[in-house]
Amino acid sequence: MAILERIQASDHEQLLFTRDRDTGLRTIIAIHDTTRGPGLGGIRIREYDSEADAVDDVLRLSQAMSYKNACAGLAFGGAKAVILGPLPADRRAAFLAMGRIVEGLAGRYVATEDMGMAEADIAVLNEVTEFAVGRSREAGGSGDPSPHTALGVFVGMRATVRAAGLGDGMRGLSVAVQGCGKVGLGLIGHLIDAGARVIAADTDTDGVAEARELGAEIVNADQILAAEVDVLAPCAIGGVLNEATIPTLRCRAVAGGANNQLATEADADRLAARGIVYAPDFVINAGGVINVGDELAPGGYSPERVRGRVMDIEQTLAEIFGESRESRQNTAGIAVARAQGLLRGR
Ligand code: NAD
Repeated sequence: MAILERIQASDHEQLLFTRDRDTGLRTIIAIHDTTRGPGLGGIRIREYDSEADAVDDVLRLSQAMSYKNACAGLAFGGAKAVILGPLPADRRAAFLAMGRIVEGLAGRYVATEDMGMAEADIAVLNEVTEFAVGRSREAGGSGDPSPHTALGVFVGMRATVRAAGLGDGMRGLSVAVQGCGKVGLGLIGHLIDAGARVIAADTDTDGVAEARELGAEIVNADQILAAEVDVLAPCAIGGVLNEATIPTLRCRAVAGGANNQLATEADADRLAARGIVYAPDFVINAGGVINVGDELAPGGYSPERVRGRVMDIEQTLAEIFGESRESRQNTAGIAVARAQGLLRGR
């Protein structure tokens, strides 16, 4: 499909290809929708097999950011940037170039951190543009988003277990957490505090050791998805809910922090057909973007406001589960329709 047809099909506003003459930096920025405010989304550095793959990725990710930001009630639209790897050898020069490109968009795009970037890169962007967020707390920014993401997943899980008929609260319930990284460990901490039984796995040993210390029972990474539990919490990688894995799940609900948990749209129906309640990932894992977006709030970053918005994820999910029950449509479809309605001002 031709590029303009592609951006029309996904209802994008803008797709910007840039090559920086001095550093050789090559980037594609997709601005999906700015109806609710500037497009907020990360800069992903990745080596793609082809330019077409990079375009696919940036279009998909920017649309997802519009949906995530809308459902989180933020005054931001959705956008995303990809830097086609490898990053030029002079990292600082590359990020200064990237910052100038972002600045050229005059606030239509607000950049933040994604795969391949570090907090320090945001500070470099900020040397040339104010339209980049996610600096450390010491540098006057919003700091690590992960604890906020973990809290959002925890409160969202409470709504999910209620919708699955598992009662009120996490006490006595069992949860399998895939991935003991920044989000997974934060979630495990909340779950243990709330009296849940946690089974956890990671492909890396460091996270596993920390999870064990928090009180989780550890299983092999290849056993976690099929663990017999009340809730499965994918907190590692995307695509884990697919045609092959869904028939093997032994949980009543899925509520986790990972992005793009469903391999395809059809997987939402596959979960529903098995009676497994699915918390749409872009709704439940919005705590991080709620935190980072607050840097641009009038009057500056407020931890109290962030916490309030993160806690609201529980109510948003409760509404999505309610609509899903009434309409007999899967929860992922309901969440997308809700986001699209919000983008159109409804
Ligand atoms: P992280 O890199 O800190 O942790 C991910 C962990 O998953 C690592 O410990 C890794 O070893 C483990 N892992 C990878 N493959 C695995 C597998 N097959 N089985 C078990 N463990 C595996 O990342 P994070 O910041 O905790 O993010 C986790 C997920 O949540 C990602 O999908 C990320 O995109 C998403 N997410 C994170 C945030 C945030 O604020 N950090 C916000 C929104 C979404």
